[in-house]
Order: sequence, then structure tokens, then C-alpha cells
Amino acid sequence: MVSDEVYNHYIDGEWTDGSGDETFESENPATGESLGEFRRGTESDVDEALAAAEDAFEEWRDLSHIDRAEYLWDIYHELKERHEELGEVVTKECGKEISEGKADVTEAWHMVEWAAGDARHPKGDVVPSEIPAKDAYMRRKPRGVVGCITPWNFPVAIPFWHMAVALVEGNVVVWKPAEQTPWCGQIIAEMFEESGIPDGVFNMVQGFGDAGSAVVEDSRVDTVLFTGSAEVGHEIASKVGGEPGKLAACEMGGKNNIVVTEKADLDVAVHSAVMSSFKTTGQRCVSSERLVVHEDVYDEFKQRFVETARNVSVGDPLDSDTFMGPLIEDGHKEKVTEYNELAEREDVNVLVDRTELDDDEIPAGHEDGHWVGPFVYEADPHEDLRCTHEEVFGPHVALLKYSGDIEDAVEIHNDTDYGLAGAIISEDYRQINYFRDHAEVGLAYGNLPCIGAEVHLPFGGVKKSGNGYPSAREVIEAVTERTAWTLNN
Ligand code: NAP
Repeated sequence: MVSDEVYNHYIDGEWTDGSGDETFESENPATGESLGEFRRGTESDVDEALAAAEDAFEEWRDLSHIDRAEYLWDIYHELKERHEELGEVVTKECGKEISEGKADVTEAWHMVEWAAGDARHPKGDVVPSEIPAKDAYMRRKPRGVVGCITPWNFPVAIPFWHMAVALVEGNVVVWKPAEQTPWCGQIIAEMFEESGIPDGVFNMVQGFGDAGSAVVEDSRVDTVLFTGSAEVGHEIASKVGGEPGKLAACEMGGKNNIVVTEKADLDVAVHSAVMSSFKTTGQRCVSSERLVVHEDVYDEFKQRFVETARNVSVGDPLDSDTFMGPLIEDGHKEKVTEYNELAEREDVNVLVDRTELDDDEIPAGHEDGHWVGPFVYEADPHEDLRCTHEEVFGPHVALLKYSGDIEDAVEIHNDTDYGLAGAIISEDYRQINYFRDHAEVGLAYGNLPCIGAEVHLPFGGVKKSGNGYPSAREVIEAVTERTAWTLNN
């Protein structure tokens, strides 16, 4: 990108500069350089996008699933075609290491493939009737106008988690990308334009939280699909909850645990913890910030995990040898630093503190990036500390030693308000099964890092992490109405 052009919103099949005068820049978090300038959407731009969506709804709804899916198949091929290019854009805008940038795009086409393929699958149930010669069906209908509000950390995959199923099911969409990743938004909107999807079916308004809020508050929106922080998600859920007939599906953050039992293979345990705690610089909703480790294997695990945390490479995310890139922005660096300082004030035992990296650890030409290294400490699992209970969203990791059996480990595991992801590392099937059945999470992993998604499984959390509407394949529940249809023959 990096051109003099100011990039526009995409509304009703047109690129438009909208009603506001303000623009904002996309910044490369590894270098601080500007990647491009974008229009900042206003309430009136959202109003225009919603009007276009509403107008487009009936014709779109009346197409068959298979005809609607044709547009998504075009996008599927585009995502594959532009994999390298778009993966690099993800890395430049988010600072994720390049293989992760490309994986974001791969996950997007997996989701599109699922949704478009699903167009040919049964959509309801045929059930027996109590009355002979009467047919009884459960049918699905699109809800109508869907507002999608997405976070920066999976700027290609998550929008498609929302939009692919919503569109194939016959809904129309107004999307507000995250303010940190408008360039990814621009490319996705170009793909929709090139697919020839009818005007108004897909609309994108770039901008900040106020534009998101305008989407949420408008009575023409039937479903809000939100992924982001618990703070914003719960605000949206409570606003929408008061409006009859409107629904908000909110996927939010986590304070995720990995349980390492005395029966664990420690190679698997250390690998899983390092991947889950430090990949994407700890900025995944499923990143692990709590490692619950049995006393019998604690010392060896600690020694190996700490050794890796001290040495894990932080560097240019475009370089495939880099393990960790930068944090997304200066404000987030401040937040992570404050949590590291809070942990010290809460009197934990700090084992690794790379909050401020040495000059020679920062790659040349990247001095203006938002760099941070791992922060690892030991804490008492039974103390009610803020640092071990609040989501930091960075490479900030607590080691929590436990004694006793799997029941004790799971009690510690469940002792947070969140319930997104959790893993157990063990070779004992009684322990594994106990964890599977009792861990209070939506995403449970056995002998794996607690990161990674399969789009044909539900993706979502319980407790403070979700509100009962998971993403990926399950989006269908939030974007369709179920109706009972009976016919007397
Ligand atoms: P965020 O600050 O909550 O923002 C998410 C989206 O909401 C952005 O597009 C944001 O716009 C918009 N927004 C902000 N305030 C709003 C308001 N009052 N009304 C409507 N929209 C509003 O989250 P983030 O920093 O982008 O992402 C990180 C968070 O997302 C973490 O907590 C992470 O755990 C969570 N996350 C969850 C999942 C999951 O599937 N469970 C996946 C990925 C990330 P701006 O960009 O302009 O602020």
C-alpha cells in the first residue's frame, strides 16, 4: 500500500468517501511506519450502509443457497490466489510472524469453503408427525441485516467466520473492521467487489468503536456478530439484550490455563506451553497465561520453560526465523507493561522479565516497533491476584504449582471468570477424561497447545468468554430463525 490515496468505505457496491472529514492511518507495529490512510466512518456512513443492506435483503434472500454460495466460491479462490500477498499484509498490519500471517488467510478460506460447501447440505429437520399424512419440518430462515464487528488479531479469518455463513444463509452484512487492520479490510472488500455480489449485500465501513457502536445501536440490525474484548462484548450484549427480536453473538477473551500433570510427557508440555504463551506475542484469545503444574514435575518443567522464555527470539515478523513479533500498538505495550509491574507489586516471584528489551535484541530499522519479551513468574494458585486472573493479552505467564490429583488441578484451572480455552498434558486417560468433562471452557485440548481452531467445530467460550453463540460453523444459530412448518397432505 503506502500510497497517497485515502482509502474509502465500500457501501452499496461503490467506494465512497462518506460523510466525515477525519481519516486515520494503519501503522506497521514492527516499524512504526504508516501503511496507508483510511476514512474514519461516522454514524451517517453506518446509516447509509444499513439502508443499502436493507434494500438488498429481499432479492438476496430469494436466491437459492447454492446461487449465493457461488459468490463465496469466487472469494475462496481469490483468498488462495492472493495467499502470499494477503499473508504479508496481515503480518505488516498485525506484527504476527509471517507463517502466522499466512495461516490467518488459510483459515479464512477454510471457513469460506465450509460455508459455501454447506450450501448443499440439509438445512433443517424432517420429523415424524403425531398425525398420519401430516408433514412436519424445522426450517431455517435468514434473520436479515447482520452487523459484524471484528478484532485486529485475526483480521482475515475472523471476518469470514462471521460473514461467510451469514451470507450463504441469505443475510446481508455491514462490517466494521478493527481500526488497526483497515488494509486487510480494504482487500477483503475488493474481493467482494470482484466477486460481483449484488450491491448492498456486503458493505464495509472503516473506522473506530463509535462506528461499531452505531452498528450495534441501530434498530435495522437483526443480529450483531462481535468478536473482541470482554469489556466491549458485554457492553454490546447488554445493549442488544433489551431490544426485542434482536440478537448479539459475542465471542470474547480468556485467561487460559494449561494443566501439566505428574503423568505428562514434559517435551509435549514445554512445547505446548511455549507455543500457547508466546506465539502471536501472547495476543490470541486462546493464549495461555496460566500454567498449572504438578509438584512432582514442577522443577524440571520450570527450568525448561524459563530457559526457553529467556532465549525465545523476538524480531522482524517478516523473517521466518522470528518466533515473536511486536505488540500491536503503543497503548497495548503500556497495558502489558502495567500488568508486569502489577505482578511485581502483587509480590509474585519473577523468573523472567524481558519487558524492556536490550537494544541489540531489537532488529535494525525496527527501533520504533512496540517490542516486549516474555514475563514469567511463580504465584500461589490459591491467592486472588489480579495478575493471575485478568486477561493481559501478551507474553505474561504465571506458573502455578499444585499438589494432589487432577481434581485439584481442575479446581485451579476453573478459578477464573473466563472460560475460553484450556489444555491438559498427561498420558493418563483418567486424568484426561476428568479434564475433558470438568474443565469450564468452550475449547478443550489434550496433549496439544491450547491454540488453533477447526472451523467445522464450534469456536467459543463459556462464563465471561462468551454468551452462548460460538463462532465458525455455529454462526448459523445466530444468523437464522428456526421455524416449525407443518403441512396436512
Ligand atoms: P476490542 O477492543 O474489543 O475491539 C473489537 C472490535 O470492537 C473492534 O472492531 C473495535 O473497534 C470495536 N469496538 C470497540 N468499542 C466498541 C463499541 N463500544 N461498540 C461497538 N464496537 C466497538 O478488541 P481487540 O483489541 O480488537 O481484540 C482483542 C480482544 O479480542 C482480546 O480480548 C481477545 O481475547 C479477543 N478475541 C476473542 C476471540 C474469540 O474468538 N473469542 C478471537 C480474537 C480475539 P476499534 O478497533 O476501533 O476499537
